[in-house]
Amino acid sequence: MISTLELSYPLLQEMIAYVNRHAPLEACGLLAGKATRAEKMIGVLNQEQSPVRFVMDPYEQLHAFDWIESNGLDLIGIFHSHPAGPEIVSPTDILEAAYAVVHIILSRTETQWRARGFWIEKGKATEVTLQIVE
Ligand SMILES: [Zn+2]
Repeated sequence: MISTLELSYPLLQEMIAYVNRHAPLEACGLLAGKATRAEKMIGVLNQEQSPVRFVMDPYEQLHAFDWIESNGLDLIGIFHSHPAGPEIVSPTDILEAAYAVVHIILSRTETQWRARGFWIEKGKATEVTLQIVE
């Protein structure tokens, strides 16, 4: 498990803009990078098109995995939005977490989006610090 994930402010804003565009539906995607630093986000279609659930479109997900590999990066995070809250991973998120990566929840309050990271292992979620770096 990792306790801190680094990402730049523009990358955070890019994720927020992406999920905001899809609200009130949940939106999802992958974060690629190296070690504990995220470099790129790749949006993946939520095939559920639901405000309370997401399932990544398998074709787009595979395509994103290929892109990450061919660019010499690693999958280091998965993000999805909770347009109507909560700020934390849901029991379903914990149950369905399939990758040992940081799970980022972008949740919306009345006026703004907030991002929190979690490491999910053995049915338990532990908060990961998201460190905004240059
Ligand atoms: Zn969720």
